[in-house]
Amino acid sequence: MRKSTLLFFMAFGLTSTLFAQFTLPQLPYAYNALESAIDAQTMEIHHSKHHAAYINNLNNAVKGTPTAEMAIEDIVKNISKHSMAIRNNGGGHFNHSLFWSILTSEKNTMPNAGLQKAIEKQFTSVDSLKKLMNVAAATRFGSGWAWLIVTPDNKLAVCSTPNQDNPLMDIAEVKGTPILGIDVWEHAYYLKYQNKRPDYLAAIWSVINWTEVSKRYDAAMPPKKSIWEQWPSLNTFHGVMASTFHPSEEGNLKPIKARSAEMVAKAEALNAQAYPDEYATPAIKDAVARLISGSKELDALVKKKSKDAVLTQKLKSLHDVFHEIVGLCKDSH
Ligand code: MN
Repeated sequence: MRKSTLLFFMAFGLTSTLFAQFTLPQLPYAYNALESAIDAQTMEIHHSKHHAAYINNLNNAVKGTPTAEMAIEDIVKNISKHSMAIRNNGGGHFNHSLFWSILTSEKNTMPNAGLQKAIEKQFTSVDSLKKLMNVAAATRFGSGWAWLIVTPDNKLAVCSTPNQDNPLMDIAEVKGTPILGIDVWEHAYYLKYQNKRPDYLAAIWSVINWTEVSKRYDAAMPPKKSIWEQWPSLNTFHGVMASTFHPSEEGNLKPIKARSAEMVAKAEALNAQAYPDEYATPAIKDAVARLISGSKELDALVKKKSKDAVLTQKLKSLHDVFHEIVGLCKDSH
């Protein structure tokens, strides 16, 4: 490598280190977009002054150290290893970035099916979740945040943190991945609501972006297992069905004639063990009962040496029931 090229790369490396800085994210809406709940002036000062100051102070605190190269999430997760300045300002940067993203001027956004189900399971309804969040936010003494989090055991929980701490921090009392955060520092509401924090809390729900909260919920949860992984005996039944039904479509009845008793056994196995939680619905249980009785009828027809056309027809109707079950599973998945 020529000396000048080498120098160029050294200089480039140096420059990129010096300029690795945290930057203020742009808001995905105008300062006046949330007027029904948060006035434009509050939004502008909050974003362009307060959040900008956290970032500026964070950049100063990490300057020239390896922390400057780290993702903000990784800094926050191991915050006990960092200075108080990084804890306050890194927390401030992380928390506000999340806050802007979970607000919207779009009306009537809704939790997706998975989040809705989890909210109902944990809090009975979205309304009771809102009440719990508002209590957490209203009773947080001084400055801080109220959070909806996904806990390490994948449940939803409500908590609050002081100052610019958050539940992702290793020092947090209640740990988890925040998916919704409400800023209850006075700078978030004082111009419009003065000392009336509960009024601010009542209003903010009209601008919560449930689409984004749902996205964050999905990302915080482990990837879903497929129907077949969740219900291995359905997968086993599928094996028998596929290798008998498809030949029958081509006029080959040998496989079903050889395996009709096995099909009964595999259908009964579906009912012999507890259903996976998600699939323990009356509709699925009813379809499984029809799969069992239909398999028995088919087995009896095979043993009576019924005509191929009769067997084909019966197997086809069983195949339909099987797909009805798969469809119902997908709906409740
Ligand atoms: Mn704030």
